[in-house]
Amino acid sequence: MRSFWTEFLTAAASHPFPAIPGDIPTPYDFDRSEELFPNVPAAPGMPCAGEDRSIYRRGARRWRKLYRVNGHIFQAKRFNRRAFCAFCQDRIWGLGRQGFKCIQCKLLVHKKCHKLVQKPCSNEHVDPVEVKEDANGESTLGRASSVRSRAEPEPLPETPPAPPAPVRAEDLEPGSQRHYSLEDFELIRVIGRGSYAKVLMVELKRTKRVYAMKVIKKALVTDDEDIDWVQTEKHVFETASNHPFLVGLHSCFQTPSRLFFVIEFVRGGDLMFHMQRQRRLPEEHARFYAAEISLALHFLHERGVIYRDLKLDNVLLDHEGHIKLTDYGMCKEGVRPGDTTSTFCGTPNYIAPEILRGEEYGFSVDWWALGVLTYEMLAGRSPFDIAQAADNPDQNTEDYLFQVILEKTIRIPRSLSVKAASVLKGFLNKNPVERLGCGEGAFLDIVNHPFFKSIEWEMLEQKQVVPPFKPRLEGERDLANFPPEFTDEPVHLTPDDDSTVIADIDQSEFEGFEYVNPLLMSLEDCV
Ligand code: ADP
Ligand code: MG
Repeated sequence: MRSFWTEFLTAAASHPFPAIPGDIPTPYDFDRSEELFPNVPAAPGMPCAGEDRSIYRRGARRWRKLYRVNGHIFQAKRFNRRAFCAFCQDRIWGLGRQGFKCIQCKLLVHKKCHKLVQKPCSNEHVDPVEVKEDANGESTLGRASSVRSRAEPEPLPETPPAPPAPVRAEDLEPGSQRHYSLEDFELIRVIGRGSYAKVLMVELKRTKRVYAMKVIKKALVTDDEDIDWVQTEKHVFETASNHPFLVGLHSCFQTPSRLFFVIEFVRGGDLMFHMQRQRRLPEEHARFYAAEISLALHFLHERGVIYRDLKLDNVLLDHEGHIKLTDYGMCKEGVRPGDTTSTFCGTPNYIAPEILRGEEYGFSVDWWALGVLTYEMLAGRSPFDIAQAADNPDQNTEDYLFQVILEKTIRIPRSLSVKAASVLKGFLNKNPVERLGCGEGAFLDIVNHPFFKSIEWEMLEQKQVVPPFKPRLEGERDLANFPPEFTDEPVHLTPDDDSTVIADIDQSEFEGFEYVNPLLMSLEDCV
């Protein structure tokens, strides 16, 4: 019998991921004043002597769930146009993931009808695939393909698509305060990009206050099997507004083509930027960041949220040098203690072994990712550094990386202290039951770990501990801590005049997205 893993690899190999901007490795800068690699590479694109390419920006992804019935391999789909169920003949209607489509024979059915389909799949060309049963008896496969790619146009365009519902101010949440719009902000500069968002520094014209604005194209959202992440990201931003180490939300609004999250602007840049310049951090610094991140994760976990995308690019430093986690697009909410989930998602280098094994998982995956990140801070490279294997194409793939995460014994650099080695081994235990932070003692096991002995946790939570590093900043709008590859980009957003893209968007999906944080609002009124 072929293992789930073999299937996963085979399937993944035959479904190359579409290139997405976040996937393109961004090697260290070596043309700036703080040069890390003063020598030139042997040939363009080759690493310089001493250059380590295991730390660079990589996009997070969710992999699609597949449901196998009678030879069909169904994927949840959203239909913009009229579609009819091949089983019950009724129209496939409604919001959310209303329909299932076989990726082989293209059969369309209701989600509720998919298990009843008797007609076998007509496609002979696909190898039989081994399927794992999930808790609901659904057949799931961890087969990889990006859900952030554009969906192909759906068939059955018998009726012209319904015109998009205009987004009108009077449709917005009743009783809520005045909402913001793009006109209220001056767009100053691009400061970051992830796998699907562009982040700008903006000024709220009325108060002259500076914010970050996370801009997401609706087309990317509606192509996704699971659009609930937009709501989740908004909820978690709201929850986060009450914690010193989480980026809070100012407001949300939309245009026909885009969603906007106006969030706290965190001036010190992200840990990726700093790691690319400092190479590796002294233990004292890594301890401070790991401890503040632990408090942020624990806060989220206590509120039923698995973060699922901890990585250097999602950890920001404020002007004093305290951390702030941002980017809640991969979060899972509503998780009670002992609950588990199964979506295959995250950023490859940080994905926990239990996710790769296709197991149900819980909060443990965040402590694993903290282990990877702490290792990166202390060692200056990833624990799954496969850069040396770059010459062998077989060893330079995501599948190989996953295999390494699952099987390789992690080597801790000898230069690290015993306590540091112990905390890394604790977090990077491949068995989630034995992992630091996941056993009986839960979070207390982290608090009491010898590596964190010098941390005064209560003081830390109140931001009373002076950070070990203060980002260099000249003024509130200094962008010295953001990569020039972003800040040099033109800041404008393309106007909404491409009606074909907008016509394909079902605006009703985004009803009620508008939001104004009442607390920040009253603060602004004091200005
Ligand atoms: P994505 O969901 O596409 O990964 P992110 O929310 O992670 O997008 O934002 C992309 C990048 O923008 C981050 O890696 C970070 O460098 C920068 N960034 C995000 N939020 C802020 C913020 N509030 N303040 C400053 N920079 C930010
Ligand atoms: Mg991100």
